[in-house]
Parts: sequence; structure tokens; C-alpha cells
Amino acid sequence: MTIPYRELMSKALCLLIVLIIVSGCRRVEDEAGTLEVITTKTGIEMVKIPEGWFDMGSKGSSPDESPVHKVWISSFWMDRYEVVQEQFKKFQISDPSHFKDPNNPLEQINWTDATLFCNERSLAEGLEPCYDEETWECNFQANGYRLPTEAEWEYACRAGTATNFSFGNDVRNLKGHAWFAENSSEKTHPVGQKKSNPWGLYDMYGNVSEWCNDFYSENYYKNSEQKNPKGPIKGKERVLRGGAWNSSADSCRSSYRSSDPSIDDTCLASDVIGFRCVRNATNNISPEKNMVKNKQSRETSKMALVYDDIYLEHKTTQGHPETSQRLVVITARLKAGGLYSKLLKLSPKPVPSEWLTMVHSPEYIQRVRRSCEEGAGYLDSMDVPISAESYEVALVAAGGVLSAIDAVVEKKVTNAFCAVRPPGHHALKDKAMGFCIFNNVAVGAKYIQKKHNLSDILIVDWDVHHGNGTQATFYDDPSVLYFSTHRYPFYPGTGSEAEKGSGKGMNYTINVPLPAGSGDADYLRVFKEKLEPAALAFSPDFVLISAGFDAHKDDLLGGMKVTAEGFAQLTQIVKDISEKCCEGRLVSVLEGGYGLEGLASSVEAHIQVLMR
Ligand SMILES: [Zn+2]
Repeated sequence: MTIPYRELMSKALCLLIVLIIVSGCRRVEDEAGTLEVITTKTGIEMVKIPEGWFDMGSKGSSPDESPVHKVWISSFWMDRYEVVQEQFKKFQISDPSHFKDPNNPLEQINWTDATLFCNERSLAEGLEPCYDEETWECNFQANGYRLPTEAEWEYACRAGTATNFSFGNDVRNLKGHAWFAENSSEKTHPVGQKKSNPWGLYDMYGNVSEWCNDFYSENYYKNSEQKNPKGPIKGKERVLRGGAWNSSADSCRSSYRSSDPSIDDTCLASDVIGFRCVRNATNNISPEKNMVKNKQSRETSKMALVYDDIYLEHKTTQGHPETSQRLVVITARLKAGGLYSKLLKLSPKPVPSEWLTMVHSPEYIQRVRRSCEEGAGYLDSMDVPISAESYEVALVAAGGVLSAIDAVVEKKVTNAFCAVRPPGHHALKDKAMGFCIFNNVAVGAKYIQKKHNLSDILIVDWDVHHGNGTQATFYDDPSVLYFSTHRYPFYPGTGSEAEKGSGKGMNYTINVPLPAGSGDADYLRVFKEKLEPAALAFSPDFVLISAGFDAHKDDLLGGMKVTAEGFAQLTQIVKDISEKCCEGRLVSVLEGGYGLEGLASSVEAHIQVLMR
């Protein structure tokens, strides 16, 4: 996996050409939404990388990239570009680069000299240097500059993606993002000419390979810590990442690892190796004190929509209110109102059975499958009519919620709406009820906890009916606060104020029954007086909404008087809770809503608030 050593003489010829080709264009439009970018005292742009989990490594590509495993990374600042020659010279250090140009990445730099630069840069900004210049050990507590850990580098490179490259798996697109063997003409290029990754970082692929702080070990992942892993304590070679101007497309991949000896002799250093610096974002001296802060906002999607035409394939009986037309009018309205194009579209997949069985019994799941295969007209009761495709569609409905959750946790978006059917909140462990087959929101809550290690979940259910299935799933569970306001007494009969949970889950179920005819003011009062204080005290890590819109004034079934504007206000209250408690992490899942016009306008108002 070691990058082959390049002979200096063979590059000397290229030098003349490079001196002629100098680009004036330092920036291209990046794809990032909101980036927090600073310019340091020494004039170097850095991007704030948010804290979070990611899947490190890759399956089946190379043994040293596996096993794929979950890693947590604390927030840090990272240079937006590879360190360029102009910056290096500012510190009165002679430029070792082969391909000389002020805006080209620095290369022919060995690992030790890269760390020396980190220390000089720290001192110039009054920060504590990270490297001991005798032992070359890195003090990770210091507030100065250092090389990224291998895990930090990959996390920043992936920028919330899980594909081979941050732009997907199609290697043909690498040309737009990188200078590599296919398009580099055997030399480096000024940084920032290619497209950035989703977090606004340039040249993560190609141009020059980048030093990481870590020693290289082929077996690194087998023993890696989960939180901010730092690589083995000892080793002969240091890790290189990202590929260089002479690399194949494969060795530019996000998870590709290579290494080189961290030699001291500059003459032996390679012209395919450079670096960029990072510094902690969590220490006491905030970088903001030393630097000019500049927040950039871009008109890109902060919100995702889960929808797929497969949801239209769950056929109910003629005249049944839970019809595929509900989703047809929703998507048509979003397109007509201009919101659709602003949403990141997520493609849902069937929920894997390991997650579905956290809420439903295997016997029930098989019964649903068989009933659909055998052409049964309905499931458990006449109000859950099914067609041949209903089993598959119900799997994709729950799976869609998981896709939305992943996108939010991975910070691709802040929040998401799932336009799915069949709905879910009445579905019990082993029983279909009230148009519902699988409990989409309950499966989502379990998934957040087990897959993403976020423990406390708030479920807000404003469907006009009580979500008996969701309540039952978490009735004795203090990690899920279930809040429902609904018409009462009404279908399904549960949801009195006295139902508050059981055992350890006592008081983690909150039911607020309302009489028929309740409107915006009544709902708002409930949300302000009951939901808000309970939710803030609970302080969830993630918020789910069981978003039924059948309390709308024109609904066929609900008998309430809520308007689209009322739903917008309820949305704002729940969104505020998510922002105060959990960085805005929120996924809203469609439940009921049977007056087509009222449903479409309410969903539109709901999404308008969420995407603000
Ligand atoms: Zn309902």
C-alpha cells in the first residue's frame, strides 16, 4: 500500500512546464450548505468539522480497510486546502517542493518537517504547540495545530457519506474532484480548483497525499478505540491518505490507506506527499477569540424528503380514506409550491428484519407476508385492507424512516419528512389496526437507540387518533417519552390522561385528550403548557413526530378544527425543542390525514417550517 518513491530527476523536466502553467482561479463553488469557516491569524482558511459518528473503513476493498466499524469524532477545525508553498515560506522555512508555485500544495515534505510547521504555526498565533520536538509525540490536549488522526481525516473526507467517494460510487466523477493519474499531467496543481466535498474541503482526493499523525498498522481497525482513535503507539511508517497526482482512482477512495517512512532526510521525501493541519474545536481557548469568523450560508437543502412511488402500490378498498391519492396530492403540492426541488430526496429501502423485530414479533411479520401472498383482503380487521404488494410497501415505509434517521445523524440534513404509507402508530407487536401494518415511528426510535447510540427519544404524536401501538411499545420504557394529543373518547379507545406508563416508564407517557371540535388555540395551549416543559426536562437526543394531519378542519374523519397554519405553529414548537436539546435532529413521519386538500396544505406548511 506504500506509494512508490518517485525519482527526483524524472520530475525536474516537469518543473519548467509547471512554472508556465499557473492558475489564477483559487476557488470553485462548493456544495456545502452552511459552513463555519474562519481565517486564522496567519491567513489560512479552516472549516469547522462537526462532531459525530461515522462508519470507518470499507468492506471487501483491501484487508487493511476492514472491519468497518463505528467511530466517534469530536469537533475540530481543519484546513480547507492542503498547505500551500506560499504559507510554508511565511515561516521562513525553505520550500522543499518539486513543483514550485505559491498556490500549489507543499510537497517533498517529510512527516517530521510537517509537524515542525504545525508547531511554528501554533507559536505564530500564540497557541500551545502540540509536538514535542525531541520525541515527536503529539499532545492532543494542546490547543495548537497538529496533523489529523487517520480517523479524523477519513471522517472529514467522507463528510457524512458512506460511499467510496464523497460524491458517490461512480468513479467517473472523480475528475471533477481530484487531480490524479488520469488528469494531472504528472504534476500537482494549485489547490481549490476542483469541487469541494460536502463539508467544503478541497483536494481531499488527489493532488498530494496527506500525512496523518498516526503510525500505520495493517491491523489498526481490529484494535481501534471507538472514540477519537489515535492509531498504534509505535510503528515505522506514518499513514498517508487521499492519493496524489500519480495515483489510480482506487487509491483516492475515502477509506484507502497507504504509508511512508517518516524519515528526516528531505532529499528522500517524495513529491507526492503533502499535508494539511487540524486543531481541536473543543478546548478552552475558543478559536473565535483569535480569528475572524465568517459564516457562510448557501441555498442548499437542509431538509430531506423520503418518498418513493412504491408507496402507491399498497391498495386499499374502493372508497377507503387511506388511499394512495394522499401521497399523490402531497408530492404534487410540494412540486407546485416550489418546495420539492429544495429537498434532498432519499430513496427508501425495505427495513431489515433485525430492526423490524425490535417492535413486531417474527410470527406477525410472517403472517403479514403470507396474508399478502395468499391474497387475503384484509389483515386482522376490516379497517386494514391489503393488496399483494402491501407487505413489501409496509417494509419500505418503515425503511424510509431509517433512511431519514441516517441522513439526520450523519448531518447530511438537519431534519426530514417521510411521506410514507401505510401509516404506523396503531400497529401493535402482533396486530394490525387502524390502517396501520408496521409501526414506522416505533421501529425508527429503536433504530436510533441501537444503531446510532442516541438514548433518549421524544415522540410527539399529533394525529387526531391516539397512537396506541406506539404507546404500548414504550409503555414501560423511560428512554422514550411518548406525547400524544388526540380526540377523546374516539378511535381506538385508548389515550386517557390516566395512562401514564408503567414501571420504570411511569410518567414517560403523556396523553392529553381533547374534545371534538378543538382548534388551533387548543392545540397550541397543550403544546406550550404540557409538551414544552416535559420535553425540555426530558432533553431528548432525537425527536420523532407522528405527523397525522387528520385533526385538520376539513378532514373526513377527525372532527377537529386545526388549520394548516396551526400545524405550522405546532411544527415550530417541536422544532424549537429539537434545536434546544439535540442540534435540531428531527424526523417527521406521515400518519393520518384524509381530506386531500387539507392534507396537502398542512404538509406544505409543516415542511416550510422545518426547512427554515
Ligand atoms: Zn389518525
